Amino acid sequence: MRQRQPRVLPVSMEEGKRLGIDQFDVIIVSGDAYVDHPSFSTAILGRVLWEEGFSVGIIAQPDWRSRDDLLSLGAPRLFFAVAPGNCDSMVNNYTPARKRRSEDVYAPGGKPRRPDRAALVYSDRLHALFPEIPIVLGGIEASLRRFAHYDYWSDRVRQSVLADSPADILVFGMGEQQVVEIARRLDGRTGWEEGTPIPGTVEKIALSGFEPERYPGLLEIPPYSAVAADKEAYARAFALHYREQDPVHGRPVAQRHPKCMIVQNPPAPPLSTRALDAIYELPFSREAHPDYDLPVPALEPVRFSLTSHRGCFGGCSFCAITHHQGRIIQSRSIGSLVREARRLFSVRGFSGVITDIGGPTANMYGMVCDRWGSAGACREKQCSPGCPHLNLSHAPVSALLSRLREVPGIRKVFVSSGIRHDLVVADGFSILPQLCGFHVSGHLKVAPEHVSQRVTNIMGKPDISLFLDFKREFEKLQEGRKKRQYLLPYFMSGHPGCTLADMAALAEFMRDHNLRTEQVQDFTPTPMTVSACMYHTGLDPFSLQPVHVPRGREKAIQRALLQYWDPRNRTLVREGLLSAGRRDLIGKGKKCLVGGENKKEKQTKGKSP
Ligand code: SF4
Repeated sequence: MRQRQPRVLPVSMEEGKRLGIDQFDVIIVSGDAYVDHPSFSTAILGRVLWEEGFSVGIIAQPDWRSRDDLLSLGAPRLFFAVAPGNCDSMVNNYTPARKRRSEDVYAPGGKPRRPDRAALVYSDRLHALFPEIPIVLGGIEASLRRFAHYDYWSDRVRQSVLADSPADILVFGMGEQQVVEIARRLDGRTGWEEGTPIPGTVEKIALSGFEPERYPGLLEIPPYSAVAADKEAYARAFALHYREQDPVHGRPVAQRHPKCMIVQNPPAPPLSTRALDAIYELPFSREAHPDYDLPVPALEPVRFSLTSHRGCFGGCSFCAITHHQGRIIQSRSIGSLVREARRLFSVRGFSGVITDIGGPTANMYGMVCDRWGSAGACREKQCSPGCPHLNLSHAPVSALLSRLREVPGIRKVFVSSGIRHDLVVADGFSILPQLCGFHVSGHLKVAPEHVSQRVTNIMGKPDISLFLDFKREFEKLQEGRKKRQYLLPYFMSGHPGCTLADMAALAEFMRDHNLRTEQVQDFTPTPMTVSACMYHTGLDPFSLQPVHVPRGREKAIQRALLQYWDPRNRTLVREGLLSAGRRDLIGKGKKCLVGGENKKEKQTKGKSP
């Protein structure tokens, strides 16, 4: 029976009882604190299930070393949903240099409470306590570790997280449709065609019970034993499953593991505008659960933000969005976003400023390819502004921003997350005056990432000349402005394909354009990205051609070159420039990036062993 949505989802039996619940249908176990905001997966999935008539309890950040937290809500009637959080637990717990972080922004007061490999730890503990209850794995961590994958933190290829865990099924992608369908089936209700595989899920099947005919068009990729032992096999397997991540033409993909077969069904179909509107218009309180004494740091930057769309067709090699949200843009309606903006006035502390609106790439709102509906996103081709099928008009985002500005009481609507500058250039800069006129709060983020064309090609980023075109127009718009705005370009060090000579060229570019990056983006090979595959194998997975991979000291030098002006980096910068044959950039000259060794440095060096 459908119950009214509660103000916050229950996190204790007492709260459940107050809502008339003796046993929850579904219990979500999360590595994040429970924040009732649509940017947090636990809140979205919990509220969507509730809307479908399932009662949901939440166990947030349980102490996994004792039984009490995991026993606190009893056994669910249908299943446990293990969602380790908005971020992979290893990315969350460690820096790119593999040092343990002292803060967890998804925890009250930033105090870490999340185990490493949370998906495995939570599901193991739950299975030990409730062996009869099904476990559904989901969230970014499970989604991006669904096949055998290279794990940077243990520096080895691990099995699919589903093969390693006692969970029964894995949900990948955004998950709403899949968890509802799993709940319906376990509840004996009818949903998608009964007994058929559920799109957007990965199944674990005993080797003796595997029936390939159940999966029409099944593609079998090299098994775990091969990809763990052979880097070329890993790269081939990666390219094969990468091409099947499309809801229209994607085929089921199987990978044999020592004790089971892992089968990824095609991704869930894109959500319609109406369905997406309905999800984001659920009554999120935009507050952390009132039980928390301390604020959850990750909430503040997004509390008054709006999500306008999902998906990204940018194809950056180091980003896993393609494997998680897909390339097809799913946009909300302007009416729904206006209603959500109006509702912000009921949230404590809202002053009429929408701090951000967008999706993975803010200016892709409303963009569409005329083939997505019938043929899906191209298997062999990345989307680019030059594709004749892509409508990259900024008219939809322009209309959305204009309409939001007209909402009574709304004082500002900022676009704080990154935009694709190449799309703005390709569309004749039409959106730029509006952006600079109303929606930039001081800094506009763009991500050229590198200046070397060879490196940007490997990264899947546009040529640096497009950034310069964009910058020129941006600067023109600053003329006569009372309050100057700044471009905040992001550059990355240590990416596969990038040499010390490339980094020296990037440092020169930053010098020539007076750009200084305070926050260094040091490449981290996160699971299931093209770049992580290159990092592990030293191969481009699509051409199988070798790619240079900076590691160890070279990676540290590349990182230092991004901040060549910082005195703490002098030694590494000099070493890097000498190795790159760029002695001309060391010394007192106007163009030099770093001075020569001073007396003290020479003495220290003389004493070192
Ligand atoms: S036709 Fe062009 S825009 Fe459409 S999916 Fe293919 S590459 Fe992308």
